[in-house]
Amino acid sequence: MKKGASRGPRIANHEPRIDAIFFGAHADDVELSCGGTIARFVKDGLRVGIVDLTRGEMGTRGTPQTRARESKAAAKILGASFRQQLDLGDGGLRIGREEELEIIGIVRRYRPALIFGPLPDDRHPDHTRAGRLITEASFYAGLRKIETDLPAHRPQVVIYYLQHYLLPPSFIVDVSETWKTKMRAIDAYQSQFHDPRTKAPRTFISEKGFLQMIEARGRHFGALIGAAFGEAFVTKQPPRIEDVVRAYSGREV
Ligand SMILES: [Zn+2]
Repeated sequence: MKKGASRGPRIANHEPRIDAIFFGAHADDVELSCGGTIARFVKDGLRVGIVDLTRGEMGTRGTPQTRARESKAAAKILGASFRQQLDLGDGGLRIGREEELEIIGIVRRYRPALIFGPLPDDRHPDHTRAGRLITEASFYAGLRKIETDLPAHRPQVVIYYLQHYLLPPSFIVDVSETWKTKMRAIDAYQSQFHDPRTKAPRTFISEKGFLQMIEARGRHFGALIGAAFGEAFVTKQPPRIEDVVRAYSGREV
């Protein structure tokens, strides 16, 4: 978590390059949808950052302060190199030029190869807007004529994780070895999820069944690729597979 203490090539702005940035509309979105993938990337030696676009001020439970504390703890558990929180408006996420420039600034600062974000079509309008904002800003970050204090950088691809709406996955990451880490990161959000001791109002995500659903989904996506747990992703830019035999090893028709 220490800035500047890490390996990797230095760039002009003195930030070490980050391999992947995971954007979420709300803190805990990325943990629930792809926390196992984040932990796996870190385990595989990649450098990962997390950016939450809002402060979660509309949440039924917890305050922006408690949620900021919880999200920092979760990022540490996953092994993220940094976690940053923007203030684009929970429950009415703004997606104008100003907000695009904030995202462009982050993309140019860390120069990631991969961008992860919510599907630009989800039940929660903040997710839909966040997906659009991330997609468009990732492209614009590569336009030299959009001048900021850092050079242009265009990531290789934007990949969407799944939240409420499901689409056929473009690929599934085997997260069997990091599933426990993901669940520990989710547990860090004590104000949000199931806690039999609390007197806070009950919400959809604080019910015991919600975390059981997350586990069921992980097992389901895992089963599709012959693994214990999996996390599914959608992208309009299909991945190049070098070894199709290996990609399907241990499976049967
Ligand atoms: Zn969300």
